[in-house]
Amino acid sequence: MSATATVPPSTVCDSMPAPLNPSTRVLMGPGPSDVHPRVLAALGLPLLGHLDPEFVALMDETMELTRQVFRTRNRLTLAVSGTGSAGMETVLVNLVEPGDRVLVCVNGVFGGRMVDVASRCGAEVHRIDRPFGEVFDPEEVREAVAKMRPKLVGIVHAETSTGAWQPVEEIARICHEYDALIALDTVTSLAGIPVEIDAWEIDAVYSGTQKCLSCPPGLAPVSFSPRAEEAIDRRRTKVQSWYLDLTMIRQYWGGDRVYHHTAPISMNYAYREALALVVEEGLEARWARHAAHHRVLRDGLEALGLRYVTDPAHTLPQLNCVYIPEGVDDLTVRRRLLNEWGIEIGGGLGPLKGKAWRIGLMGHSCRLANVTLLLSALETCLR
Ligand code: PLP
Repeated sequence: MSATATVPPSTVCDSMPAPLNPSTRVLMGPGPSDVHPRVLAALGLPLLGHLDPEFVALMDETMELTRQVFRTRNRLTLAVSGTGSAGMETVLVNLVEPGDRVLVCVNGVFGGRMVDVASRCGAEVHRIDRPFGEVFDPEEVREAVAKMRPKLVGIVHAETSTGAWQPVEEIARICHEYDALIALDTVTSLAGIPVEIDAWEIDAVYSGTQKCLSCPPGLAPVSFSPRAEEAIDRRRTKVQSWYLDLTMIRQYWGGDRVYHHTAPISMNYAYREALALVVEEGLEARWARHAAHHRVLRDGLEALGLRYVTDPAHTLPQLNCVYIPEGVDDLTVRRRLLNEWGIEIGGGLGPLKGKAWRIGLMGHSCRLANVTLLLSALETCLR
C-alpha cells in the first residue's frame, strides 16, 4: 500500500465531540423519505439478542407483514441485512450461475446496475435499452427473450433515475412462455403504487426500506416464488457471496434458526413498525394517497412552467422528474431549498445530471402540506 493511504492528523476532532444534532429536513428527494415518529421510536427500543425467542417471533411477524405488502404467499420472503442494492445482489447471486444467460431491460441507472451485478456473477448478460424516461413495450421484450432464451430477465418497476413506471404483468407472462424467470426491482414502487407479486407471477423481487415504506435505509425485503426457490435448490455451484447466500440465510429465518450473521436488531424493529403502519393505513388507501398528492404536485409544477421527463401515462406518483428550466442553475436552487426551507429534492442522474430535478413523494413524506411548501418555495426560487 502506498504512503498516500494514510491521512495527516485532523483538527476536526480536537475538542470533545458535541452530541449529534442533525437538522430536521423535509425529505422530498429520491429517498430516503421522512420517517414516521413511531418508526424512529422503534429504533430506540432495548436490544434483544438475535436468537432471543422474542426476536425470532418478530422475524416471523415481519416475514408475514412483508408477504402482505408484496401481496404474495411465497415462503422465501424475508428482509436481507443491507440496502436495496443488497436486495438486487441477493436476487442475482442466488439465481444466476456462471455462464447463465441473463437479459436486462435498461431504461435508467438501476437497470444499468443490474447489468453490472449480473456480469459480476459470471452471467452472459444481454441488454435491451430504452432512452431515459421511456418504458419497454412487451413486444420488444418478447423479441429479445425469444432470440436470447435467457434463464432470467431483470427489469425495474419504478426507475428512480427518471420517474418512469414500467408495466410488468404482460412482460412476466412473456418470460414464462419462454421458461425464463423474471426478477423485479421494486425499491421505489413498493407501498407507493400497486405491486402484486403473486397475481403478476413475479419469480424474484427485491425492495429497499427507505422509499415508500418510510423506514431508514438498511434492509432489503426480498421474495422468491416456488419456481425461483427450485432454481436455487438446483444450483450446480455455490452462491458466489457468502453473506447473501440464501441457502444459509433461509435456515436462520426459517425453522432451524441456525446462526448466519447477527441481524441488525434495531433496523428490524423499525422495519416491523413501518410495515405495521402500511398495513394499518391499507395498501389501496396508501396508493390512493400517493396518486392524489401527485396530482396536486403535478398541476403546481406545470403551472410553474416545469415539464415532466416522462409521459403522463407512465409517470410515477412518488417520483416526479422534471426538466430544469433554461437559464436556471440546478445547484443554486437545490441549495436554497435546503438552506432556506429545509427541503431536500434530488438532482438528475446519468444523462439527466444538471438537466432535471427529482421530486419524491414517498411514504410519510407524501403529505399535502409538503406539496404546498415545496411549490411555494420553488416559485420563490424561480421568480
Ligand atoms: N433500485 C432502485 C430502483 C433504486 O432507486 C435504488 C436506490 O435508489 C436501488 C436499486 C439501490 O438501493 P440502495 O441505494 O438502497 O442500495
